[in-house]
Amino acid sequence: MSRIAVVGLGNMGGPMAANLVAAGHEVTGYDPAPAARDTAAAAGVTVHPTGPDAVRDAEVVITMLPTGGHVLAVHDELLPAAPDGALFVDCSTIDVASARAAHTRAAATGHPSVDAPVSGGVVGAAAGTLTFMVGGEQAAVDAAGPVLAVLGKRTVHCGGPSAGQVAKMCNNMVLGASMVVVAEAFVLAERLGLEPQALYDVLSTSSGRCWAVDTNCPVPGPVPTSPANRDFTGGFAAQLMLKDLRLADAAAAEAGVDTAVGRRATERYAEFTARDPRTQDFSAIITDIRREQS
Ligand code: NAD
Repeated sequence: MSRIAVVGLGNMGGPMAANLVAAGHEVTGYDPAPAARDTAAAAGVTVHPTGPDAVRDAEVVITMLPTGGHVLAVHDELLPAAPDGALFVDCSTIDVASARAAHTRAAATGHPSVDAPVSGGVVGAAAGTLTFMVGGEQAAVDAAGPVLAVLGKRTVHCGGPSAGQVAKMCNNMVLGASMVVVAEAFVLAERLGLEPQALYDVLSTSSGRCWAVDTNCPVPGPVPTSPANRDFTGGFAAQLMLKDLRLADAAAAEAGVDTAVGRRATERYAEFTARDPRTQDFSAIITDIRREQS
């Protein structure tokens, strides 16, 4: 049993904290949102009135926060409050520059740290089946291993500090761009009189195969579990996809790499979410592509 603090008890951090409780760990937590605090407390998390209070006795501090700005501000509060040597594990999806800064600040206060963004969404967080993309020194990654094993089914050590964020960002750039082109293909096929099922049967067994086709297919029917079958509810919100694509654009600009297709995907998701601000799975981009046809 370890003493683990979870700071940021929202859609992801809440169920992750609950799974740590269920695995027998002593879990403390903090979130400024009363609803998040209540849900975590009901799951057995000892909720504290501030972040520093929550980490005071922790051996491991997990942060699961919206942006790099939140992560750095929270690190500045928590690093001096946590016991010497407590391991910091940031599972948020944030920009690479902030991830590097978080590692630097942790090291300066004697805390080992890893960036460990996740894939698998809210469903994976609740089921304990997340995939972690981890960046950090080997000793810190090894120390994080047993905790991450409770929360997920797979951990990939991507490299040194911030490598996990780089991998996550690249993965989601591929995912966003591939969803746009898969949705365009289904709309084109519809226009040319091809049944969606026929296109699916070909794509899913041919070289066009990808996750946007065979797991998250943007048309109802071929993949019964895809969000398209339930009016795009559940799944991975288009707004979160836009956030991740913007992180990729920013990193590409900073690195001087031209990611033209990735940038175009960002533009499409920005247009779509501005026109239709409902929270929908990102495969709902197909409704925007259909809408644009004359
Ligand atoms: P969320 O908005 O549900 O949760 C974030 C929580 O952080 C909120 O409860 C908020 O009150 C809390 N918070 C804000 N400021 C805080 C502070 N100073 N101290 C403590 N808590 C604070 O978001 P989420 O869906 O849980 O996402 C969290 C992170 O996980 C994001 O970086 C997101 O990009 C990433 N992510 C989300 C998903 C998903 O499907 N939701 C999937 C993969 C990765």
